[in-house]
Amino acid sequence: MPVVTRPAVLEASVFFVFLENEILVKNNCPISKNEFLYFASDDFSDDWYTETNLFYAAALAKKNAVLPEGCAFIPVRQFCFEHRELSFLASRAASLLKQRKIFVFCPSCGNRLDDDKKESAKRCPGCGSVFFPRIEPATITLVSRQDEILLVKNRNSSYKNFACVSGFVEQGESLEACVAREIMEETGIRVKNIRYRGSQAWPFPDQLMFAFTADYESGELKIQEEEILEARWFKRTELPPETELPRPGSVAWNLINGVFQNTDR
Ligand SMILES: [Zn+2]
Repeated sequence: MPVVTRPAVLEASVFFVFLENEILVKNNCPISKNEFLYFASDDFSDDWYTETNLFYAAALAKKNAVLPEGCAFIPVRQFCFEHRELSFLASRAASLLKQRKIFVFCPSCGNRLDDDKKESAKRCPGCGSVFFPRIEPATITLVSRQDEILLVKNRNSSYKNFACVSGFVEQGESLEACVAREIMEETGIRVKNIRYRGSQAWPFPDQLMFAFTADYESGELKIQEEEILEARWFKRTELPPETELPRPGSVAWNLINGVFQNTDR
């Protein structure tokens, strides 16, 4: 995964410019090389790089940058849903740019970090430490009880629809233990038959989601109020309207609709 910097932009064929959680588009389409080259200047971008093996270039726009004519920013997630063929590169680029902004100084010795010449990593010229982009593992689980499924609304997320129970894996914990703990903590429900169903990168900025199904074993709904706004059992034939459910393409939509990347073996 070599990150090669600036001169290689001429070899790229896909171009992204980001500002916080948004990406630049022209008429809702990806921008061209000419529009990108406008940002290949310190006047308009805080950082930019290319990955030559993936043929794309990515830049982080300055907040006050004047945009090329006809261009506008839209949310990265919206872009990824509307341009599925570019969702891997766009989400990867958005995540790497955010991490490049965070990993500026070595946490061990304080030196300014350099780009690694071979990997998408930062290297400390002082102590030799290498810092790879961070990936946070998380689990997401669809719990079933006969013909019902358990859906929750999270209190602190910007995402306000119903979703499956999810949470980050803690140190020393297996994925299955994380599933059982999160469901118990957030809803008071004990589960059994925890089964892996597939995975999806969710690099907003750095998650890797491991999807599971599980069956209800025991317990009454008791929500963890700091985290969960609402938890309800829904009959599969009486789900909330689509506008209150996860969007198609998301791992939660796949779980609810039984679309598993890994078939039972
Ligand atoms: Zn160091």
